Amino acid sequence: MNSKKKIIRNLEKPVQKYRFLIQSCFAALCIWIGYDFYRFAHFLESNGTADYFRRPPGVDGFLPISSLMSTYYFISTGIIHPAHPAGMFIFLAIVFVSIVFAKSFCSWLCPVGFISELVGDFGEKIFKRKLKLPKWIDIPLRSLKYLLLGFFVYAIFVLMNLVAVKAFLDSPYNQVADLKMYYFFVDISKTALIVIGSLFVLSILIRNFWCRFLCPYGALLGVFSFLSPNKIKRNPVSCIDCGLCAKACPSSIKVDKVITVLSDECSTCLSCIEACPVEDTLDLKSVFTKKKVSKKFVAIGVVSIFMAVTGFAMITGHWQNNITKDEYLVHYKLMDTYGHPTGTTAVKEFDQKAAAKELQNEKSIDKRDANAEQDINKSIRHKRNN
Ligand code: SF4
Ligand code: SF4
Repeated sequence: MNSKKKIIRNLEKPVQKYRFLIQSCFAALCIWIGYDFYRFAHFLESNGTADYFRRPPGVDGFLPISSLMSTYYFISTGIIHPAHPAGMFIFLAIVFVSIVFAKSFCSWLCPVGFISELVGDFGEKIFKRKLKLPKWIDIPLRSLKYLLLGFFVYAIFVLMNLVAVKAFLDSPYNQVADLKMYYFFVDISKTALIVIGSLFVLSILIRNFWCRFLCPYGALLGVFSFLSPNKIKRNPVSCIDCGLCAKACPSSIKVDKVITVLSDECSTCLSCIEACPVEDTLDLKSVFTKKKVSKKFVAIGVVSIFMAVTGFAMITGHWQNNITKDEYLVHYKLMDTYGHPTGTTAVKEFDQKAAAKELQNEKSIDKRDANAEQDINKSIRHKRNN
């Protein structure tokens, strides 16, 4: 510590309790959605004899692949696919939040991030310190989430053409993807339970194990975060090199060694700013105005962007999907027969089949048009002859 510097104490009020409150509210919202979905599934299980309970559209937020494909389809065609429209708007809301406030979704809203944080706190209480992996293993493990993201991006944007994307979005599998996910957890297999249990234990040992190493959603938001104009900045003149910021960082970023935090792992949790004992030394600043962005503004901004985008979808009638109660009852009975392509070869085959089907449809439309034209000509000739 450089003791010669005059220290003006950082007396700014912390916002971590508000962050915790927002995370808790969002987690409660997810539990509520889960309960509503359970009631909807109960209706289907009763073969329509129980009271009808409408499917909660918010469940679409747990279908990231379908949402990514819907967004791709929307950007390419301007059409909002009706199977899981809420998923696309939730996905867009999260992307917008990341473009403005970096990966803040992870530390302010994401329920998995919230659980990871609580489990990490529990781990630190047990071990009395943060356990960190050595660099040589941490860096390759961190790239795993990018490999997963790369696979999805390659499969959707490279292997599949727009016809195949539409075929997938229209498919019965996509229509009941939420139900499939629900029964995956309700009838959880031994293997899945072991994997989830292992992730839980690993998250106690190493903070944010899932988020840091495996979450492809987080990887995508990390990429978008580079576009964010708001960055954590350290003032090296007033900094006393105490290292408290780096110690507080849940993402193990060496905040005390850089002027600007330019890391895909930074989740704008603001813990480093609050740990800094010196006034105006560590702040979130806009790269455009060079001015400090208040911590409260981050809290309000993250929630407002999310609510504005999802609220827009609700107001404009793009929240509920177009699948009727009777269609769901039929799907429920056939659900076990629905599958999806797994692996690049299966995706390629799916793409080829979709293209062939589209060609066949076009040909039958042409044939139908030709027949209709022939019929019209025939009736004209008939009228003339009479
Ligand atoms: S650098 Fe600061 S804001 Fe970013 S994750 Fe670390 S503690 Fe949170
Ligand atoms: S920026 Fe980090 S190292 Fe510098 S005074 Fe603040 S907490 Fe200490």
